[in-house]
Amino acid sequence: MHFPELEPYKTKNPRLSELINSLDSYLYDLLSISQQQDIAPVLFAKKAGIDEPTALVLLMFAEDAGIILRKYYVYCPVTDDYIDSYSSPEDLPKEVYCPQDRKMHSYHEYLVELTFQFSAKALPIVSNI
Ligand SMILES: [Zn+2]
Repeated sequence: MHFPELEPYKTKNPRLSELINSLDSYLYDLLSISQQQDIAPVLFAKKAGIDEPTALVLLMFAEDAGIILRKYYVYCPVTDDYIDSYSSPEDLPKEVYCPQDRKMHSYHEYLVELTFQFSAKALPIVSNI
């Protein structure tokens, strides 16, 4: 295991043990590339050959362990351009200004994508590479 913080989750969820190993390798590979890598649930799901809800459960173990943090990316509903990011659903604004359209998009219009990023806690591993 590259992330010993994930070990207790294997003990608690023996059925997911193999998948937690996959998550461990996946996160390590991404972190080896860059600490700035986005960790998209859909991409991990593809890599591990599992469905997205399961991938999300596994990523939430890593979040709970403090290795990764969630990010909500907000995109323009018209052009798909990135507008802003937030760290919790409560922070998502009622309206967001879109520089592309030069107008406001409401909560019901703009697109939200949940993704994860490495926390500062995951940093020391990088310096060992
Ligand atoms: Zn827009």
